[in-house]
Amino acid sequence: MLIGGSDSRRRKTQLSESCRGRRRNGDPKQLEIGYDVEYSPTLYISTIDLPTGTGEVHLGTLSEIPGGGSVAVFVKAGHVVRLVNTPGTQTVDTWCIAARDMTEYLSVEHTRRMLSRLFPRAGDSLYSNRRNVLLTIERDTSGCNHDMLLACCDHWLYAFYGCAPDHRNCRDNFFEALARLNVRPEVVPNPINFWMNVPVEGNERIDLREPASRPGDFLVLRAQMDCFVVFSACPMDITPVNGAGGTPRAVHYELLE
Ligand SMILES: [Zn+2]
Repeated sequence: MLIGGSDSRRRKTQLSESCRGRRRNGDPKQLEIGYDVEYSPTLYISTIDLPTGTGEVHLGTLSEIPGGGSVAVFVKAGHVVRLVNTPGTQTVDTWCIAARDMTEYLSVEHTRRMLSRLFPRAGDSLYSNRRNVLLTIERDTSGCNHDMLLACCDHWLYAFYGCAPDHRNCRDNFFEALARLNVRPEVVPNPINFWMNVPVEGNERIDLREPASRPGDFLVLRAQMDCFVVFSACPMDITPVNGAGGTPRAVHYELLE
């Protein structure tokens, strides 16, 4: 059951909006002014009625996530979601939250420990913050490393880069996508960033590079419990994580039995 809480949001953002050409010379006062997204979760209990959160997704229908946009889907235990990197250049920040209790979620910190590796591979399980398996990666046509080190982008990061305060970001995308299903989490877990190319150099330094995936590469993720999966086609247009052109592009997904 979901109780109360205010969800006051005003958005003027556009998916296609780019940071380039809109920087404000790093003036922190300017960056603080005019941020127009408000999100004020107050009181929510952590279990929900499943029927309110199942959305309108049909099995076997390939749907688009616009570049810079996001979607949340309810995935029944045993079902799979296939995520397609349509352009091959797009990083997709991904979260998974247990439907029975939203305080349980995919934890990259716990997953790294359980896998004893920094990057997951096909066949690996993705663990929750209670060390339960939430998802398994059944297929990965890219064979790429998928980042499990970095937090999602947020409006503070774009402020750091000197972007306009209404630059889209994965953190807001996370809340926005789940709100469409009437799901309002209290925290933003660190995501698994599919296809995000963050190599570790010299056993200590991380870099941000273009994805090594190809157009049409896809992942098949099987849910091991009823859960909400959130995908954000990352709006990053400053670093090369969405390809050399720094242009967020649409990806696709479908639910399958
Ligand atoms: Zn992002």
